Amino acid sequence: MVEARSRFGGRIFSPTEKIKQNHYDMGPAWFWPGQPRIARLLQEFGIPYFDQASRGNLVFEDPSGKVRRDLDMATMEGAHRVEGSLARLIDALLSRLPKEKLQLSSPVQHIEMGEDEIQVTTEGTVPTISAKQVLLCIPPRLAEHRITFLPDLPQSTKQQMRSCPTWMATHAKFIAVYETPFWREMGLSADAISHKGPMMELHDASPQSEAVNEGYGAIFGFLGVPAEARKGQDAIIIEACKQQLINLFGERAASPIEVFYKDWSMAPYTATKDDANGPKSHPHYHTISISEGEWQNRLFFAATETAPQFGGFLEGALEAVDNIIRKI
Ligand SMILES: Cc1cc2nc3c(=O)[nH]c(=O)nc-3n(C[C@H](O)[C@H](O)[C@H](O)COP(=O)(O)OP(=O)(O)OC[C@H]3O[C@@H](n4cnc5c(N)ncnc54)[C@H](O)[C@@H]3O)c2cc1C
Repeated sequence: MVEARSRFGGRIFSPTEKIKQNHYDMGPAWFWPGQPRIARLLQEFGIPYFDQASRGNLVFEDPSGKVRRDLDMATMEGAHRVEGSLARLIDALLSRLPKEKLQLSSPVQHIEMGEDEIQVTTEGTVPTISAKQVLLCIPPRLAEHRITFLPDLPQSTKQQMRSCPTWMATHAKFIAVYETPFWREMGLSADAISHKGPMMELHDASPQSEAVNEGYGAIFGFLGVPAEARKGQDAIIIEACKQQLINLFGERAASPIEVFYKDWSMAPYTATKDDANGPKSHPHYHTISISEGEWQNRLFFAATETAPQFGGFLEGALEAVDNIIRKI
C-alpha cells in the first residue's frame, strides 16, 4: 500500500489535543444508521460509538450578528460518532496489515504497463513497485490531475475522472476545545446556524456523549468563507472563528484550551484547483471502470467517489472497495 502523505487516514485526520490527549476529527466525524459496513467494521474491532449530542436549543445568528438561542431543533440528531475519534479505525485497520507492505510519503506519479507487470513510480524511498493489478483508492479527479499513465487512459475515463468532484474538498473545519461542555448548562446543544460567519454550521464535537457530562467539551464549525477567499488567511480566520464563538455561546467561549483549523481545499493530496468551488448538494456518484484497452481489468478505481450508493461518505469508501474485490 502506497500513501502520499506522511500519515495514513487520508480525509480521516484527528490531531491530538495537548493536555488530555483527546483526538478531534478535522475531516469526517459522523456515520449514520443504515450504513452497514462502517458499523460492522467498528463492531469487529470493538470500537464503541455514541450519538451526536443534540439535546438543547440551536443558536441562530443573522447576517448582522444578532443571536437567538431559543430554537428547539437539532440538525444532526441521529448521527453517530466514534469514541476516541475515527483515527481509532485507521489504527485498527493498520494493525492488520503487514508493516513491510506499507509505504508512507510516497506520492504515486506515474503508472506504466510493462510486458508482464505494471510499474508504479513514486516519489518515495522505494521509487518503483511492480504489480499485476493496481487499485487506485485516490479521489478520481486528483488521480487524473497528478498521475500520468502509459499507455494513456481512454479519453472517456479521463473525462469521468475530471468531472467527479472530490467530496468536501472545498471545505474547512474549525474546532475549539474547552475545559467543559459549558453550553449544555445553558440549555444549548452547540448546534448553530450562522448567516454572518465565518462559520456557517456548528455542532458539538466533545470527546464523549452527553450522557457523560464531564471532561472536555468541544465545538466544531464548517467555514462559510469560499476557498479562494480563505487562501493565506489562516490567522485571521482563526481569530474570527474565536470571536464568533463568543457571540454565539457567550463569554465562556472566550477561553478555549486549544483550537484546530484545517482547510481541505489547500490539501494537495485531497483537492485540486477544480475543487475550489464544490458542488452545492451531494453529487450522485457512480463507478468508474475501464471498458477498453490495456488497462481493462488491470487498473481499478475505489475511492468513495466511485461508490454508487454511499458515494462521498466513509461508507462509500468501503462500498467502493467491496465492489472491486467482488470483481477481481
Ligand atoms: C471536512 C470533511 C468532513 C467530512 N465529513 C464526513 C462525515 O461526517 N461523514 C462521512 O461519512 N464522510 C465525511 N466526509 C467524507 C469522508 O472523509 C470521505 O468519504 C472518506 O474519508 C473518503 O475515503 P477515501 O479512502 O475514499 O479517500 P481519502 O480519505 O481521500 O484517501 C485517499 C488517499 O490517497 C492518498 N493519495 C492522494 N494522492 C496520492 C498519490 N498520488 N499517491 C499515493 N497516495 C495518494 C491520500 O493521501 C489519501 O490518504 C468528510 C470529508 C471532509 C474533508
